[in-house]
Amino acid sequence: MAATNRQWILNKRPRGELDADVLRLTEGPVPEVPDGAYLVRNLYLSLDPTNRIWMTDMDQYLPPVPLGGVMRGGTIGRVVESRAPAVPAGTIVQGLGGWQDYWLARPGEASKLPADPSVPLTMYMGLLGATGATAYFGMLDIGKPKAGDNVVVSAAGGAVGSVAGQIAKIQGARVIGIAGGAEKCEWITRELGFDAAIDYKNENVLERLKALAPGGVNVYFDNTGGPILDAVLQHLAIGARIPLCGLIASYNDARGLSGPRFYHNILMKRAMVQGFIILDYAPRFGEAFAKLGAWHREGRIQYRVDVYPGLEHAPETLKKLFDGSNRGKLIVKIADE
Ligand code: NDP
Repeated sequence: MAATNRQWILNKRPRGELDADVLRLTEGPVPEVPDGAYLVRNLYLSLDPTNRIWMTDMDQYLPPVPLGGVMRGGTIGRVVESRAPAVPAGTIVQGLGGWQDYWLARPGEASKLPADPSVPLTMYMGLLGATGATAYFGMLDIGKPKAGDNVVVSAAGGAVGSVAGQIAKIQGARVIGIAGGAEKCEWITRELGFDAAIDYKNENVLERLKALAPGGVNVYFDNTGGPILDAVLQHLAIGARIPLCGLIASYNDARGLSGPRFYHNILMKRAMVQGFIILDYAPRFGEAFAKLGAWHREGRIQYRVDVYPGLEHAPETLKKLFDGSNRGKLIVKIADE
């Protein structure tokens, strides 16, 4: 056991890009384990665009991380000491263990992961975790793609988007992914079976949409907001459905979130926009993981994880989500399994 517990502390609220002094790394003792609690050695830390939201004090779906508090983050870890009989040492658990080496938890605060050697632990942060569930419920419950629909997904080369597009393909839709750069566009079309890709960094999204989907967009799985949303809103089909999953284009914008242009097209096209937060679907996660796992075993869904070593590099690694250099679900490896 390491003698110390490293923790990333929220030092100040970010404005715009993530400055180096927003988080600071501290070292302290590994906590003593009181009765009824257990100590988790964090192994993996999930890095998510929403981490940037949690650092702010904007109105959001969880309380903002308090200044001076340990940065919140999804983790997978191993119980190394337990004074809670329900969660013995050796158990692998998943929860909001934070950006730190050790997490003192109590029963009910984390879920136990099955000991299945055929499933890599990182998969529980990717396809069989919140990422997969987000794609699954956002696409199927809200987007409701049908055979022949034109489905558009933004951040399509990323963790959620790549899975969302493949789910729509399984439903028989024609799927267009919007992603930054040739490598991601090739990956989603050649490897994942998307029908087409638009490189939003080098192409005119609206013009390409008009060419690729002359009948308009029936489902737009929105991961970005911003200029991509503005382009799609100008090319909706009547009765379009828009699962609003994320707004990553504006998370680092010091001016704050900007509203959509072309909002009137929601009216003109009788479209539906529905925001959703995946935590609300927790009671139904089992349904999503059963389906996603089966599709993966059948070779119908692929996913990739992008794992970087070193808790000490977590803030720098987080930036990959915003410059687009992550290649799949972004994860920090904190310690060897
Ligand atoms: P990704 O793996 O998709 O990584 C983020 C990607 O977003 C980057 O790789 C980049 O890809 C793209 N991106 C970054 N900045 C911009 C920009 N300005 N314009 C367009 N694209 C941009 O991350 P996740 O899959 O974890 O998250 C995707 C979205 O889903 C986020 O908006 C996130 O907040 C949301 N989300 C929502 C949940 C919910 O409950 N509603 C749950 C989980 C995620 P590129 O190279 O293509 O630019």
